[in-house]
Amino acid sequence: MIKRTLKQIENMIQIENDLSAFREVSIKGVSIDSRKIEQGQLFVPFKGENIDGHKFVEDAIQKGAAAAFWQKDVPNPPLHLPILMVEDCLVALQELSRSYRKQLEVRTVGITGSNGKTTTKDMITNLLSLQFKVQKTEGNYNNHIGLPLTILSLEEDTEIAVLEMGMSGRGEIEFLTKLAEPEAVIITNIGEAHLQDLGSREAIAEAKLEIIEGLKENGLIVYHGDEPLLKEPLKNLTRKATTQTFGQGEENDLYPVQVKQTDIGSTFTTNMMSAEFHLPVLGIHNVLNALGSMLIARYFGVAFEKVNEGFSTLKLTNMRMELLEGAAGERIINDAYNASPTSMRAAINLVTELAGFEKKILVLADMLELGPEENKFHLEVGENLDSSKIDYIFTYGKLGQFIAEGAKKVFPENRVFSFTNKEELSESLKPHITQSTLILVKGSRGMKLEDVVHDLQQSR
Ligand code: ATP
Ligand code: MG
Repeated sequence: MIKRTLKQIENMIQIENDLSAFREVSIKGVSIDSRKIEQGQLFVPFKGENIDGHKFVEDAIQKGAAAAFWQKDVPNPPLHLPILMVEDCLVALQELSRSYRKQLEVRTVGITGSNGKTTTKDMITNLLSLQFKVQKTEGNYNNHIGLPLTILSLEEDTEIAVLEMGMSGRGEIEFLTKLAEPEAVIITNIGEAHLQDLGSREAIAEAKLEIIEGLKENGLIVYHGDEPLLKEPLKNLTRKATTQTFGQGEENDLYPVQVKQTDIGSTFTTNMMSAEFHLPVLGIHNVLNALGSMLIARYFGVAFEKVNEGFSTLKLTNMRMELLEGAAGERIINDAYNASPTSMRAAINLVTELAGFEKKILVLADMLELGPEENKFHLEVGENLDSSKIDYIFTYGKLGQFIAEGAKKVFPENRVFSFTNKEELSESLKPHITQSTLILVKGSRGMKLEDVVHDLQQSR
């Protein structure tokens, strides 16, 4: 992580303060949360809507922060403390990260897409770690604050940084990619996430494509080639870059040939090599994430022959198709991290395909932020369910009711239940569960459907 004196930081972000006694004070790492401050860190306060972080500057320094930023328009700076006066704390944080990255010799990979960013980040990191010292975005630190913090956490000897770039509107990915200047980027897919903010899938694709704005010259662009909204614009790319595609279609550079799903993961072969790859995570969408990751890793010199070794230790960040056991011995797929129509379809398809279960149950909640057509999206999920492959549907939430409504068009009423209370849902679900039941639990982050998973894991 960044280790610099205040004098050096001044130069890095081009400010001039009267530092006098504090010029040689040295910071180690950066934090924006005074409650979690660690010894020697630089504390960056933000003026939030409700709370102004400047209130905690003295406290942070008392708890061990070596120094803090102070935004000039905030009155009464504690000038007796090691503070750096800046025009805008957020901009200063971003500029510090930009400058720090330029001082390092680190190579970067940028990841965007509607779904699968964190998963792909974990996969790419596992593969590159076979040959390099790699650091990645922790958790979901993928925005205009998280990315600078990730960059500032890089060690001086890190060779490759694998960076997730998220967005909720236009221009955000462009900003992030220009901060990171990746030499390889990947667009995992285009889904419906953020339809509410951007209006159409075309607009979402354009926003994701901003990632190439920061790509180094002659860099690599890997993308989901089954998606026309990516394929068309990238076909006529004018800048110097290599493009490679992955996807299910045979026109892609890399596509899966034989895919098998078991309850411990997937195996697949590809068009490029006859060898079988083993992925300890579920779902065809994860096979696609794996293919994209393999292309990125190969660009850095990690051969396909090594892929199984890299994937063997793969552990995805929690609640993404996480396989768990419930109290009755049932299998639970905890995918409560998030949901959109695309990822919902992918997860449900997987459940319908998995063999060896007596009973299959879906526990589905609202998919949030879908805009004016949200009811329709939920109805469609229900209508498209296959009543010969799924036994029961339990929905939670106001929009979840529309899934139930759709499902009732294809299922007998006594196999579809709708709730607005999670405890009630769990209680009516439990009697249906046997040892050989498979349950998919999935909904948007705001629905916190993991509560149901935890409940099912309690003894009963
Ligand atoms: P966020 O925008 O919240 O950071 P993310 O893009 O990082 O999300 P992940 O956390 O990797 O996405 O995965 C979230 C969920 O999306 C997974 O649990 C899975 O259901 C689904 N998913 C993952 N990859 C794909 C994909 N390639 N296509 C469709 N759905 C996917
Ligand atoms: Mg993510």
